[in-house]
Amino acid sequence: MAKTAIVTGGSSGIGRALAVELLRLGVDVTIADIADAESTAGELGCAGARLDVTDAAAVADLVRGVKADRGRLDFMFNNAGIAVAGRTDELTLDHWNRMIDVNLRGVVHGVHAAYPIMVEQGFGYIVNTASLAGLIPAPLMLPYTTTKHAVVGLTLALRVEAAAHGVKVSAICPGFVDTPLLDHANPGLPQTEIGRLARTIGVRVQKRLYSPEAVARDVVHGMGRDRALIVVPTFARRAWSLVRL
Ligand code: NAD
Repeated sequence: MAKTAIVTGGSSGIGRALAVELLRLGVDVTIADIADAESTAGELGCAGARLDVTDAAAVADLVRGVKADRGRLDFMFNNAGIAVAGRTDELTLDHWNRMIDVNLRGVVHGVHAAYPIMVEQGFGYIVNTASLAGLIPAPLMLPYTTTKHAVVGLTLALRVEAAAHGVKVSAICPGFVDTPLLDHANPGLPQTEIGRLARTIGVRVQKRLYSPEAVARDVVHGMGRDRALIVVPTFARRAWSLVRL
């Protein structure tokens, strides 16, 4: 029986690249996304479901459905995310709440649905997409930094508890990756200068923007080594280790 994976935010960027990499490895992938899930699944040749990760019941239904249909749930990638940049004194509470709903509650919903199933199975791997901004502060991105630090904390604490049940838990912490997120192309939030700024800063500090495909390959490699924090790419690892010194 093939291993199974759910990838939230699987229609675009890092999630889509992860789905492609997992399919290449023979995993039975279901992508779940608020946008373009069916069309992307059709292109990739995998299963797809329209899903809003802020809807806890919908996330639970999807996870239970995959387990019931396929008989096992091996990988849960809680990857869907959005970004907003701006001066903190100019952000509205709506900005904060939307960020917390998608980036933090979305991950909580995925963990809450998948973890008990994995404990019961005695195996499984939860991978939460945080960010380098979950390890070091990202100026002018306070809600984003806040949610991503929370995802790192959640991951590290769950990892300790989960090990006793044969379940692995890791967080992905990428630096700047060339995806639509940098252009702020996500639903429900106003356009900001984040795309222009992030691309300028990303190229300046990393020399180039990293591709989601390169990140996905690094993630699978990091999972093979059961790393708690999969910090990609090299620049991000270097930036983090400088701050840790
Ligand atoms: P992306 O915009 O290409 O992909 C994000 C996907 O999430 C989109 O397909 C979008 O439709 C989906 N999504 C948004 N809200 C959703 C919701 N409520 N329910 C379900 N799906 C939803 O961006 P990306 O860069 O691939 O981002 C993926 C993850 O990587 C995010 O968690 C992001 O914070 C993180 N990340 C990105 C970067 C970067 O530089 N691009 C860096 C660090 C971390």
